[in-house]
Amino acid sequence: MEGSRALKIAILGAGVTGLTLAQLLDADGFDVHVLEKSPVAGGLCKSSVIDGFTCDHAGGHIVFSKDPTVLAWMKEQVGATNLVEKDRNTKIRWHDRWVPYPFENGIGHLTAEARFDCLKGYLESVKRRESGEPCPEDFASWIDWKMGTGFASHFMVPYNEKIWTCDLSQMSSAWVAGRVPDAPLDDILKAAVGIDTQGYKHQARFWFPLEGGFQALTDGILAKVRDHVRLSTPVQIVQKTRDGWRVNDEDFDLVVNTVPLPELAKVFEGLPADVAEDIQQLQPISLINVLLGFKTDEALEDLSWIYLPFEDQGPANRVTYFSNYSPRNAPQGHGSFMAEVTYRGHLEVDSTWIDDLARGLEHAGLLRRSDLVATQHFRSRYAYIDQDRGFPERIQRVRKWMDGSGIYTVGRFGRYEYHNSDQCISRAMEVREQIAQMAGSGSFQALDLA
Ligand SMILES: Cc1cc2nc3c(=O)[nH]c(=O)nc-3n(C[C@H](O)[C@H](O)[C@H](O)COP(=O)(O)OP(=O)(O)OC[C@H]3O[C@@H](n4cnc5c(N)ncnc54)[C@H](O)[C@@H]3O)c2cc1C
Repeated sequence: MEGSRALKIAILGAGVTGLTLAQLLDADGFDVHVLEKSPVAGGLCKSSVIDGFTCDHAGGHIVFSKDPTVLAWMKEQVGATNLVEKDRNTKIRWHDRWVPYPFENGIGHLTAEARFDCLKGYLESVKRRESGEPCPEDFASWIDWKMGTGFASHFMVPYNEKIWTCDLSQMSSAWVAGRVPDAPLDDILKAAVGIDTQGYKHQARFWFPLEGGFQALTDGILAKVRDHVRLSTPVQIVQKTRDGWRVNDEDFDLVVNTVPLPELAKVFEGLPADVAEDIQQLQPISLINVLLGFKTDEALEDLSWIYLPFEDQGPANRVTYFSNYSPRNAPQGHGSFMAEVTYRGHLEVDSTWIDDLARGLEHAGLLRRSDLVATQHFRSRYAYIDQDRGFPERIQRVRKWMDGSGIYTVGRFGRYEYHNSDQCISRAMEVREQIAQMAGSGSFQALDLA
């Protein structure tokens, strides 16, 4: 390995992870080249304007982070004058009622019967846990164990079945176990008797770009490295060479992958059969996000987004009140929603399907179909990670092999970490440190992420 100035690095994919890393490594003096298959950079952070309505492609995105350094960095990329500050106000459309989110903080808004079910079930679950009952391995049993049968049946099971589109007993509990703190009993009791409490304080306030949708974030990052990003350039072959790597027909000292692993596997020469088999099973959960632009004389209710757990509300699991995020997101006299629908494999979308989706939202009391003036759908093949029961061990094996192979792989689907863009940025910052150390030491070091 040569001195740090000479290190030539290929970054595969120009989503937020790849772009952040490109900017940081370029600032450190490395010779950085980003290869992106799409004609537009941004990946899952992309946005478009349709008939005057701004829309994020992969559902409602917000700028926030628990990490103040990362949050400040994100805001700097968007630009202080292009940011709108918002208070988060999220609710669940629970039959004909509005229940504040998280559900456990809002159960005072349920019927008396449902409140009783939730409270009784929760107390039973506390007893089970206190008696030492171990954390179950599957997600369905984990919900009962953690929250009780009332919370499960009145929200958590129908909502999670809708978003994950599977029987929850097929899912692992590993992605939530140990990460979701116990809801304080006092909070549940207060909520049950009608005293609202607040959850998720770190997201109580968020930011959104005034202009350009969430893509303003990746556009801001891109602005400093535009000359290093090759758009419409799919990675077609990745080969290990004696001294480094060859990508397509060019030699590099180091490759950092942020492309979804199943796409990398298609072009990675010499992948061992067992690793290829593991990656083959890392199938994602996909997303259709539908922009709904409509006429309205009145301001929309002051909501950020809402959850739709029930079948009779149509296929959408979440609706973002997108014109509330920025006054520029919809033309004067209009409002906009974005409705998210998850699926596995293939989902055919035509005008009848969109009309059925809108009918579900009309049934839930959100809009009148006769007011709609614009609809457009966007498809993201890689949206959510399928947390099936084999996933935790499978992904460990894949990461271990990749880390040992000499390629660095990061990003939401480049590493299969359930990360928002702020965590992707944080990972890119860690990788930058490791590359700097490696260049300083002059010998290759496998990627080592916590
Ligand atoms: C419904 C939903 C809501 C979300 N909400 C938020 C939110 O509110 N706030 C937030 O911060 N984050 C949110 N996220 C998460 C955020 O979108 C992701 O964490 C982030 O965009 C992932 O960035 P990435 O660069 O790792 O991957 P990606 O954005 O997937 O980038 C990978 C890139 O690789 C490219 N690529 C693929 N194949 C090839 C190839 N063969 N050759 C070259 N390039 C290729 C793709 O085109 C893409 O540009 C949300 C995600 C979803 C799905």
